[in-house]
Amino acid sequence: MVCSYGDKNDVQIFRELKLKEIVVISENGRLTENAGKYANLKINVVREKIIADLKESEFLEKVEDIMHRTPICERSKTPVEIIPMQDYYLKQLEFVPTLREFASKINFHPEIHRQILLDWLDAVAIDWPISRRRFYGTEIPIWYCKNCNTANLPEPGKYYKPWMENPPFTQCFKCRSSTFVGEERTFDTWMDSSITPLFVTRYEKDHEFHCYAYPTKIRPQAKDIVRTWLFYTMLRCYQLTGQMPWSDAWIMGYGVDERGKKMSKSKGNTVDPFPIIGKYGADAFRFWSAAEANLGQDFRCSEQKIEESQKFLTKLWNIGRFVSSFNVITSPPNKLVSTDKWIIGELGKLITGCMRGYRDLNFFIPASLIREFTWNLFASHYLELIKSRAYNNSEAIGFESALYTLHKCFSTILILLSPICPFITEKLWKELYSANSIHVQPLPQSDNNYEEMCEYSERIIEFNSRVWNKKREIISKQTGKPLSLKDPIRIDIPPDLQIFENDLTDMHNLQHETSS
Ligand SMILES: [Zn+2]
Repeated sequence: MVCSYGDKNDVQIFRELKLKEIVVISENGRLTENAGKYANLKINVVREKIIADLKESEFLEKVEDIMHRTPICERSKTPVEIIPMQDYYLKQLEFVPTLREFASKINFHPEIHRQILLDWLDAVAIDWPISRRRFYGTEIPIWYCKNCNTANLPEPGKYYKPWMENPPFTQCFKCRSSTFVGEERTFDTWMDSSITPLFVTRYEKDHEFHCYAYPTKIRPQAKDIVRTWLFYTMLRCYQLTGQMPWSDAWIMGYGVDERGKKMSKSKGNTVDPFPIIGKYGADAFRFWSAAEANLGQDFRCSEQKIEESQKFLTKLWNIGRFVSSFNVITSPPNKLVSTDKWIIGELGKLITGCMRGYRDLNFFIPASLIREFTWNLFASHYLELIKSRAYNNSEAIGFESALYTLHKCFSTILILLSPICPFITEKLWKELYSANSIHVQPLPQSDNNYEEMCEYSERIIEFNSRVWNKKREIISKQTGKPLSLKDPIRIDIPPDLQIFENDLTDMHNLQHETSS
């Protein structure tokens, strides 16, 4: 079953088999002479007429509603009819093997989205139609000779509007005639955007700069335009320069609405970021977008999640205020207390993890690790463990060790977070550590001398939680309420946590069997 342009399969078969088409629908939506007695009528009218004619001739068996697929316009939702037209095409088929080779060399972040490009390269079946019949777009700079119909092109380097301007030449280069008609069509939108790497490196404008800056490093974009923006940029830049436009492609997922539906203007489910930024702050918004989903995955845009990011930054701010009440000690003391060695061991792990994420341009990894470390380890456990040591006078054992470690951890957290939350980290950094910007600090190195101390983390967390729960369970005889965190309690420290005995005892106000 095949006819001239019933659907896309017909188009494909007509092209493959080089069949001679019979065009029945014209550009104005009416039937052509080829439709015989139905010529000049609109499609919907003809449909009714054909049914009536079949009925009258007694060819009609029955009429019933059926469900079937039919292509409809994305905007007007009206059925699409395929009409053959003359158009400009850019050659792409012959470039596919070279582009496939390049596609295997580009570093994809994440790797999984390379497949979208490879699948598309396999699917490219025709050259690229680049002329469009719509008003808004980049004009195609051509004037046609009225006498011989030859396309005349202007000098490059200037923007032309042939549909409204006189040509910048007087004679047809072929027949010397002097009357022209300007091209009315515009380019496909990707004709422009596909040369952004050339535009930003001043191609054909500043040779020295272009040679220095091209190819560029990275293309950041969303996954839905891999087949268009990414692919056409590769094609066009290769055609013009013989080189790939960049070495890396960073592909993010969709921001979807709270129900997981793709956002679109026509559905009205888009979120305007500016009121949200005004309400929660740019850094909270940035932290949310980094921490919400792993690189390349779709993420739901929920105001509640953005609010949670703001809560984390408020927590960071409050930790900063607490830490700021202690003098900064930058050189390590002669002897570090076990609790301090433990958190420095965990800090080393944090640095390694964050740097791995940053190197792969995956901001989800540092954002999640920093939140987890800062909130659930550093603030909840470490700060509680060293509070009494830090508040003690400077003569006490472990005082310097506590202050050194406190600031080492907090200053490292700020530097690690600074690429994601540039403003709050800068403010805290300048208040606490230096008049020089945090953004010129070297990224921290992981010289993890205390990695073996990380094996205590789970047991410390478990023990602290056990004590807190116990205090909640015990009702005080004096107040009739559960014990407060400061109230004394009798719990033995497990033998394998004895090296933290002093800090654990102070933190929980533990009363040992022997001491009571
Ligand atoms: Zn001519």
